[in-house]
Amino acid sequence: MTPMLAEVVWGVGLVAWAIIRVPHQSRARKTRVTSSAKTLQDRLALLAAAVGLCLVPILFVATGFPGFANYTFQPWLGWLGLLIELAFLCLFYASHQQLGKYWSVTLEIRTEHRLVTDGLYRYVRHPMYLSFWLWAIAQLCLLPNGIAGSAGLVGVATLYFSRVRHEEAMMRDTFGTSYDEYTRQTGRIIPKPW
Ligand code: SAH
Repeated sequence: MTPMLAEVVWGVGLVAWAIIRVPHQSRARKTRVTSSAKTLQDRLALLAAAVGLCLVPILFVATGFPGFANYTFQPWLGWLGLLIELAFLCLFYASHQQLGKYWSVTLEIRTEHRLVTDGLYRYVRHPMYLSFWLWAIAQLCLLPNGIAGSAGLVGVATLYFSRVRHEEAMMRDTFGTSYDEYTRQTGRIIPKPW
């Protein structure tokens, strides 16, 4: 793999992410929200993820900035990045399909919200966030620049660690003991071994 091909893989991944997301985004706008736990902190965490996964790498791929942080590209790391990028897209697509109309970009409960506990959600409570971690790791493998490569990890870590407890508290308030039982059987992003 060449550095240019690695940038193409990263760019195709971004476009595929947008193509998968768009129909869910437009359906979410039409599905009524019954309660919302969105806060300024959550908005800022989303912004951090967007900057790290999109803005910084787009700037790097388009202009080469910040060139001082470049390092030598390793072809094997590029191939590994391609595999992780494919895993990210499969997981992102499947979690959107399985969460269906209950998905939202911030923390919201929709009318007739059901607790999804099948498919990927049978093993982990946050498969979509797991897909974002994979996206960030793929970016690190594909872009040989200390800042642009690692910006995704910083953005995803900010979103994940600032959101996951609030999201689980909201789900517990909504679904009570069913959610407690569900958390006993599942891991956050790594399945429980039993
Ligand atoms: N954390 C999940 C979902 C991200 S989308 C994941 O990583 O796959 C965020 C929205 O999904 C939240 O507002 C919440 O209402 C909804 N949600 C999260 N887990 C859910 C579940 N198991 N069943 C139904 N809705 C869920």
